Amino acid sequence: MSQRTFSIIKPDAVRKGYTGAILAEIEKAGFKIVAIKKASISKAQAQGFYHVHAERPFFGGLTDFMSSGPIFPMVLEKDNAIADLRKLMGATNPANAEEGTIRKQFAASIEENAIHGSDAEDTAAFEIGYFFAGLELI
Ligand code: ATP
Ligand code: MG
Repeated sequence: MSQRTFSIIKPDAVRKGYTGAILAEIEKAGFKIVAIKKASISKAQAQGFYHVHAERPFFGGLTDFMSSGPIFPMVLEKDNAIADLRKLMGATNPANAEEGTIRKQFAASIEENAIHGSDAEDTAAFEIGYFFAGLELI
């Protein structure tokens, strides 16, 4: 069944000029890009996006990082999109990511790890709505 997920090309990857290469990996893997835009988010907006991690020790660093420069939020679609994107991204820490994954190729550290992908249907719905209006998703 066709499914939508939400992804972000994070500030480290945008700064290093990896946006096009990451999008190519995503399209090569069979995802349709339903919507994409360039955005810069404030610390408060990053805190809202990552609210589930508010009590984690890395929350301050993570939200500073995510508000440190332009990002590309996007909505992706394919069969089994949520799980397949997580597989394509690789492990959170690129040191543990499998060969060929986006994080293995483009991420520098557990914090500066190039890409975000939703981890479940309910979080995907929240995250899509956080960045995109319904009219942008037709
Ligand atoms: P994402 O939600 O960004 O797709 P993920 O689901 O693989 O990544 P989460 O556990 O949801 O990982 O953590 C969210 C983000 O917080 C990670 O992508 C990473 O940037 C950062 N993070 C997670 N764990 C740590 C840590 N121990 N130290 C520093 N940053 C971390
Ligand atoms: Mg996550």
